[in-house]
Amino acid sequence: MSYENEIKRRKSFAIISHPDAGKTTLTEKFLLFGGAIQTAGAVKSNKIKKGATSDFMEIERQRGISVATSVMTFEYKDYLINLLDTPGHKDFAEDTYRTLTAVDSVVLVVDSVNGVEEQTRRLTEVCRMRDTPVIVFINKLDRDGKNRFDLMEEIEKELNITLHPMTIPINSGKDFKGVYNLDKKNLVLFTPNTKADDESSRIEITDLSDPVVNAKLGDKDAEILREDVELIGGVYGDLDVDDYLKGKVAPLFFGSAVNNFGVKEMLDSFIAIAPTPLPRETTARVIEPNAAKFSGFIFKIHANLDPKHRDRIAFLRVCSGKFERNKYYHHVRLNKDVRFSNPYSFMARSKDVIEDAYSGDVVGLFDTGNFKIGDTLTEGEDFYFTGIPSFSPEIFKEIVNKDPMKTKQMDKGISQLTDEGVAQLFTQYGGTKKIIGCVGELQFEVIQYRLLQEYGASVEFRALPFYKACWLTSKDNKKLEDFLRFKQQNSAEDKDGNPVYLAQSEWFLNTEITNNPEIEFHFTSEIH
Ligand code: GDP
Repeated sequence: MSYENEIKRRKSFAIISHPDAGKTTLTEKFLLFGGAIQTAGAVKSNKIKKGATSDFMEIERQRGISVATSVMTFEYKDYLINLLDTPGHKDFAEDTYRTLTAVDSVVLVVDSVNGVEEQTRRLTEVCRMRDTPVIVFINKLDRDGKNRFDLMEEIEKELNITLHPMTIPINSGKDFKGVYNLDKKNLVLFTPNTKADDESSRIEITDLSDPVVNAKLGDKDAEILREDVELIGGVYGDLDVDDYLKGKVAPLFFGSAVNNFGVKEMLDSFIAIAPTPLPRETTARVIEPNAAKFSGFIFKIHANLDPKHRDRIAFLRVCSGKFERNKYYHHVRLNKDVRFSNPYSFMARSKDVIEDAYSGDVVGLFDTGNFKIGDTLTEGEDFYFTGIPSFSPEIFKEIVNKDPMKTKQMDKGISQLTDEGVAQLFTQYGGTKKIIGCVGELQFEVIQYRLLQEYGASVEFRALPFYKACWLTSKDNKKLEDFLRFKQQNSAEDKDGNPVYLAQSEWFLNTEITNNPEIEFHFTSEIH
């Protein structure tokens, strides 16, 4: 296949949702359509069970599973689809944010009973920041959920997105009868556990007034459907694919993942409209996906928690050119050439060594500590991919070394764990106090456990009264220096030496912003 065609047939996306909305179930159905797995239950949920926060075995198990299910590649109708999984648990939200930098679009799953939930809100916000195209799947229509119009209004209002219904449901719960596909103009009757290739429940109708609609749905529901279609058709018209690609409009589907119902409708639309690998910004210029030379960046690093096998897996998103096994590439940050003898892809949960990979693909690279998140590989040029964000942590703790004999090990461990993106490290301004910032309590337990297991370092954490970290910039260096010195208790440097203000509360933060107009306060920092 030609190089151009290889790129054109690729679609890389992430599924996001609040835990329990049905992300794992939907992923599994996708893979069934792709023929990648034969049996249900093969995709393991990588969520951490409630109450397991102190159970380290559970964390290890979870990490093992999430390596296996981090990326799943499958083929569907001549397309090669890279599906990137994201941890739903809020303590791992940073991991999800970074995964979103490696995809070209997103499918958002919303539970029809619970509607918009906390993680739905946060994750959609990140998509909006990046103008990522989003498709919404409202799941669990087989349960008595909220009214379809109320749900749509709630999603539009709370997530600040504009929906474009592609299907509309006929009732929900025990009265759920199916969905009408506004685009294809066919009626799909609900049958539990629909087989991947089952077409028998799909009724083509060219005219909604066809009596067959009444025969299948009953007079009352047939009438409601006609009204719905008229109303929705009138309000929305046809989907403007360009608006979707620009992240302005989100096509909306209804279904039931566990019953594999409504999933095919979405997948077929997905391959028709979802973006192929997009150009990416770098510190030098925009890199087109079909550029001749290879480039890519590391967006995720997974450590092996087995102390006997310290290797890590770095996840590389290919952004241009062709990645080849055993070829030397330029590691920009370290300014050295590296090559990989066993890069692998993620077809159907088995890890296959690959010979080459193209734009949009994700490749797993064995790493002995050379990589950190945001690293760029090229064919010799010096540039970095931009837009890989660090978000402000929400919990801050001072690290206390309990075993001074192991200081070196502790420092090394902290440095490596923060390279992996487990947490962010800040150093007190003008001092040595080390402050760890995370988005969730669970990460502190992971850090404490891993420092002991992998580096032999024993640490404790002391809570600090901060609620947000803001990165500071100013055209006036002197003003910035003075501010940092004057606010020493609240000042720190991040791992790369950038100045940071640690705010105790929103009130303090707003006061400082007002009092220091010559200093800019940023809530995210870009790695490059
Ligand atoms: P995740 O946390 O988003 O990955 O959610 P899961 O896929 O693990 O699903 C959470 C629970 O919802 C599981 O018990 C699923 O069986 C169930 N579930 C998923 N889809 C549906 C659906 O369409 N209808 C119903 N009734 N339950 C579903």
